[in-house]
Amino acid sequence: MQAEIIAVGTEILLGQVVDTNSAYIAQGLADAGIEVYYHSLVGDNADRLTTVVNQARSRSDLVVISGGLGPTKDDLTKQTVAQLLGVKLVEDAPAMAKIQRHFATTGQKLTPNNRLQALYLAGSTLLKNSTGMAVGSFYRDPHGADLMLLPGPPSELEPMFENEALPRLKQAYRRQEFLVSRVLRFFGIGEAELVTQLADLIDEQTNPTIAPYAKVNEVTLRLTAAASSTAAGNQLLDDMTATIQNRVGDFLYGYGDDNSLAQVVVNTLIDWHLTITAAESLTAGKFQSTLGDVPGVSAVFPGGFVTYANDAKRDLLGIPQQVIDTDGVVSEHTAQEMAERSREKLNTDFALSFTGVAGPDALEGQPAGTVWLGLAQRNQAPQAKLVHLTGNRAKVRERAVMQALDWLRRVLRGPK
Ligand code: ATP
Ligand code: MG
Repeated sequence: MQAEIIAVGTEILLGQVVDTNSAYIAQGLADAGIEVYYHSLVGDNADRLTTVVNQARSRSDLVVISGGLGPTKDDLTKQTVAQLLGVKLVEDAPAMAKIQRHFATTGQKLTPNNRLQALYLAGSTLLKNSTGMAVGSFYRDPHGADLMLLPGPPSELEPMFENEALPRLKQAYRRQEFLVSRVLRFFGIGEAELVTQLADLIDEQTNPTIAPYAKVNEVTLRLTAAASSTAAGNQLLDDMTATIQNRVGDFLYGYGDDNSLAQVVVNTLIDWHLTITAAESLTAGKFQSTLGDVPGVSAVFPGGFVTYANDAKRDLLGIPQQVIDTDGVVSEHTAQEMAERSREKLNTDFALSFTGVAGPDALEGQPAGTVWLGLAQRNQAPQAKLVHLTGNRAKVRERAVMQALDWLRRVLRGPK
């Protein structure tokens, strides 16, 4: 969509009047998303006006002309444009009535040239003049450029442009487009791996667009679709989501800008009326605190245990000293015992346990980052899994919590 603006008036050409109309129109067009490529200025001369308008029509989609709509001899924009388009000028009855009323009230004689102000281009949309007499026109040419005629005086042009012209321009040219977007959240896959798996989709993206974003401990993809309706946009997003799900759905845990892994897990527990507890050693309550961040968690989380020292594991959970002595505190067996005994104590459906080496020093000969996670479920034997986490002490503890949340998410989701 390319537009250009022509200011008509010998007084402007001679520098007696500064062309403010073109600037005003240009800003309005820009606001409506219409690009302006040329401004021209021409005197009150039919031949030269014809030349300028024809040139403008040959290279633009819309030509907006200001000036020369009045009743005097030098006002010839309307007649000139009508002639070069080969269309007639027709009279607008309400505009004519307004002119007649004006002359009746002021007691002036209504001369034929005054009727000219009520004329507009046949087949065009009339633009009313709320502050003067001369009406404007918006002529849509199916074979060439569209033309808009506006009066010269800024006091008439500005309200006409604002109230009559702009709404019609927006309606005529603006692509009616709705943008919808969706955030897909992944855990357990790095950004590099994710974009590699989706490389062709990302390379060929047009609609929806796909924007990856690496966050702390997770990656998100923002899909944005443009369509003629929100429903059509959502359909595009659904299709793309399904394609992505086919490839990396295992790591896709949720949707939305601020839907954390903890939120997804807790909300699933709430939906299914399943309760949870935890026994934490190296994370010292971080997992339970993370659950506590989610509103409504009290319905599914009665409380839990922080069993940092071996004595606490024995005294609070009842883990036999022999298990710790034989298998070690950072062991599969201890993790299973911590999970199952905490679950039994609070009679919950699930329990997570954490025992490991946060660092920086090794423990029991195991390097920092070695973590056993335990998972107990009602009526099932407790499980445990070993993870090797990287980063400093804080990162290891944080990642242990995320790993446990993801494990529980996968268990809740059921087998794939
Ligand atoms: P009128 O009925 O008043 O004659 P018109 O539509 O015929 O209006 P012109 O005769 O071209 O318009 O201009 C009338 C006056 O409006 C000019 O003398 C000038 O003061 C002002 N004017 C015209 N064009 C512009 C412009 N581009 N920028 C600023 N002022 C303008
Ligand atoms: Mg005039």
